[in-house]
Amino acid sequence: MKILDVIILGAGASGLMCGANISKKKSVLIVDVNEKIAKKLKISGGGKCNITNVSVETDNFDGDLELVKSVLKKFSKDNLLDFLDRNRVSLELRKGRYYFCQQSSDEIIDVLKNATQKHEFALNEEIISLTKEEDIFTLNTKTASYRAKSVVVATGGKSFVNLGASEIGLDIAKSFDIEVKEFTPALVGLTVQKEQFWMKELSGLSCHVEIKVAKRVINEEMLFAHKGISGPAILSASLYWRKGNMNINFLPNVNILQKVEGNKKLVSSVIALPKRLSKELLKAVGVTDKECKKLSSEDKKKLSLLHSYSFAPAGNFGFTKAEVSRGGVISNELSFTSLESKKVKGLYFIGEVVDITGELGGYNFQWAFSSAYMCSKAIK
Ligand SMILES: Cc1cc2nc3c(=O)[nH]c(=O)nc-3n(C[C@H](O)[C@H](O)[C@H](O)COP(=O)(O)OP(=O)(O)OC[C@H]3O[C@@H](n4cnc5c(N)ncnc54)[C@H](O)[C@@H]3O)c2cc1C
Repeated sequence: MKILDVIILGAGASGLMCGANISKKKSVLIVDVNEKIAKKLKISGGGKCNITNVSVETDNFDGDLELVKSVLKKFSKDNLLDFLDRNRVSLELRKGRYYFCQQSSDEIIDVLKNATQKHEFALNEEIISLTKEEDIFTLNTKTASYRAKSVVVATGGKSFVNLGASEIGLDIAKSFDIEVKEFTPALVGLTVQKEQFWMKELSGLSCHVEIKVAKRVINEEMLFAHKGISGPAILSASLYWRKGNMNINFLPNVNILQKVEGNKKLVSSVIALPKRLSKELLKAVGVTDKECKKLSSEDKKKLSLLHSYSFAPAGNFGFTKAEVSRGGVISNELSFTSLESKKVKGLYFIGEVVDITGELGGYNFQWAFSSAYMCSKAIK
């Protein structure tokens, strides 16, 4: 059996970017269970993938921020924008923050396809295990075996199994005694406890909120859903929420107590939100809808809870709905300059399989591409 220079496990965002930047002199095989490359990239961001953000700071990530810093230093947001510009991928800026593809994520996929065309691909092949003997790795898929001097694990997280996702990256790490944190769903909607079932009644409505969770403050849209709560604000909050309470300001841009002062209208009319939502919010904080001037001081105390509604979510919508998986190979196991395993020479981990998770807003693709680039330049 021939011995390749490198096998890349996973033809997703990070695996392809790594392949695209590896020295052309190397023999490279990219393996994926799917019949097509980059399935997750294709459907991301409604088919136009949110590739990065105007502002990319270590603070936008959950995990070891020193590792994030080191990786972003090697390949920053500007490097990614240059790479896309050089390859004529046209981007559009949404809400002044988020970079999306102007046409479709196919533009990026085509760039990665072209840049990896010299490599071999083994598609439709499910990876089963990886072993190492005398400096050579043997990769076993369900149908074949391959050998190589170096292996890059770019198998992503566990969310969206229908797009090829699996835990194989963690299984491989564990088989080499490399420490991992089990995957948990993140950037995901949250389910609610009985006391907040009223939120489910509002399914389909949305409003701008400010959420405080684990010392983070998130200003975004929240969506009431059939299963609980969702929308950008909640997805972002889910990255930092573990257990216990979070706090929502339903009226971040007004002071409700000032608004009701001396006002002759009904309280529900003064709250600048859809009527159905205003009425439910009033019920939730225990205020009967009435003319503002009839509010007692006790009512006003309760009304101010609209600025800090504290509650404990029950759980989350799970891996089938989660945009990413939190957890992965822990940073202590990896070199901060190459992402090579400290224990196993020639074995690298990149992308979502590493215990770094980005916020909503393009940070996960930025991490996938930056970590892939660092690794590609380190493979000797
Ligand atoms: C619906 C959705 C929308 C998203 N939108 C955005 C967005 O707009 N912006 C953003 O930054 N992030 C977004 N993300 C997250 C982003 O897609 C991922 O973080 C990113 O793709 C991770 O790249 P990766 O290369 O690590 O993993 P992936 O891109 O998931 O690639 C891993 C590859 O490994 C393959 N694989 C896994 N197990 C096996 C196995 N056993 N055998 C063979 N092959 C295997 C998979 O088939 C896959 O092709 C979104 C995710 C989802 C699910």
